[in-house]
Amino acid sequence: MKVLKFGGTSVGSAERMHALVHLINDSDAKIVVLSAMSGTTNNLIEIATALYAKQNDKAKQLIDVLENKYKEVIKQLYKSESASNKGIELLDSHFNYLHAFTMDLFTVNEERSILAQGELLSTAMFHFYLEEIGIDSVLLPALNFMRIDENEEPDLNYIETNIKAELTKYPNTKLFITQGYICRNAFGEIDNLKRGGSDYTATIIGAAIRSEEIQIWTDIDGMHNNDPRIVDKTHPIAELSFDEAAELAYFGAKILHPTCILPAQQRNIPVRLLNTMQPDAKGTLINSKTTGDSIKAVAAKDGITAIKIKSGRMLLAYGFLRAVFEIFERYKTPIDMITTSEVAVSLTIDNTKNLDAIKNELEEFCSIEIDSDLTIVCIVGDFTAEKQGYALRIFDALKNIPIRMISYGGSENNISILVDTKLKKDALVALNKGLFQ
Ligand code: ADP
Ligand code: ASP
Ligand code: MG
Repeated sequence: MKVLKFGGTSVGSAERMHALVHLINDSDAKIVVLSAMSGTTNNLIEIATALYAKQNDKAKQLIDVLENKYKEVIKQLYKSESASNKGIELLDSHFNYLHAFTMDLFTVNEERSILAQGELLSTAMFHFYLEEIGIDSVLLPALNFMRIDENEEPDLNYIETNIKAELTKYPNTKLFITQGYICRNAFGEIDNLKRGGSDYTATIIGAAIRSEEIQIWTDIDGMHNNDPRIVDKTHPIAELSFDEAAELAYFGAKILHPTCILPAQQRNIPVRLLNTMQPDAKGTLINSKTTGDSIKAVAAKDGITAIKIKSGRMLLAYGFLRAVFEIFERYKTPIDMITTSEVAVSLTIDNTKNLDAIKNELEEFCSIEIDSDLTIVCIVGDFTAEKQGYALRIFDALKNIPIRMISYGGSENNISILVDTKLKKDALVALNKGLFQ
């Protein structure tokens, strides 16, 4: 069984939903994971933000604007009156639910319930459409099997057991539709897999059912060698290893959710990135093979904070790094880059939720400097030890860009460079010119 995930633009209009049918309507058994229609999750965040700020009139207005958008889609999506009526009923129930929040107290749990409405709507709308045109499918409620644990990590055992139980209820069904992004948390509440999380849903399901292939269908013909939103003349990469794809995703290549490669890699399931607008394009195949090409792609991750930690006692002092790392561990704050010298250690984080508390604890035994608005530029490829000369090419390309930190050698797939976010574009353009042209 294959898992096919379609992102926001691939379900972004009635026309796109119609076109989607041609990509899934063959005799292969498959689970289709859908995102919310493009823009919807952002709209839902705006609604929740207004509710937080107790701007209930603004929230009502935003809900109405969104509902009208969906009413237009419903008009174009269905031909028959009965399907249209079902669509209208569906909108009524979801938008009445949203309106109910404008009449009561608002907390973080309610925000997550609001954010879940996008995927619940898109999947139900598409499922009704399949029904209208006579294609058999089953809508699997993701909230029945997708779960994260108390560390907000996918609970793979639970997911595997529960999705299998759902699937065995329908032994003759070939086509299943389910929601990306949404899940329950360790307390059974509605939660989500963070922005872009539908990719993660697809790879988690793929791993859980030991799928033969996971396909991520989006609006571009695969992973490009650089960020196409920032740099001209980028090109798709035909093949990537799991390690390379994981580094690119984690360090900002928006086409993939930051941690979605891991479940596929753990069970050695190939992931193919494909374009719904150009279904015949080759896309990118991600698997366990390495191609040996030294430099494959560049990605950038914004919102980075650097912390320079200095201690007089660092000199020859063992136990210092442990003491530092323990603080970050206690505050569940992942460290992305790290460099050390004899007297200091610099590291970067992107989650600054507990930065003040971390700072206070660090200051008990060292002096620290904090810098924000930084970007990690990450150069990914297969840098096994024998290869020579690529460092020269990278630093030559970046000769006019001030570099804050460099990290190399942590993996054979990644050289990371920290720059001021203001210089991100210049760095990406310079690397494109120096490495790929
Ligand atoms: P979806 O809604 O289908 O999940 P996303 O917007 O999340 O789509 O991801 C696709 C987008 O990722 C592309 O349109 C492109 O602008 C952006 N992107 C950023 N970096 C890359 C890259 N290295 N390769 C391909 N696309 C990238
Ligand atoms: N709808 C969610 C988002 O916009 C999940 C996804 O599209 O992958 O982040
Ligand atoms: Mg996405």
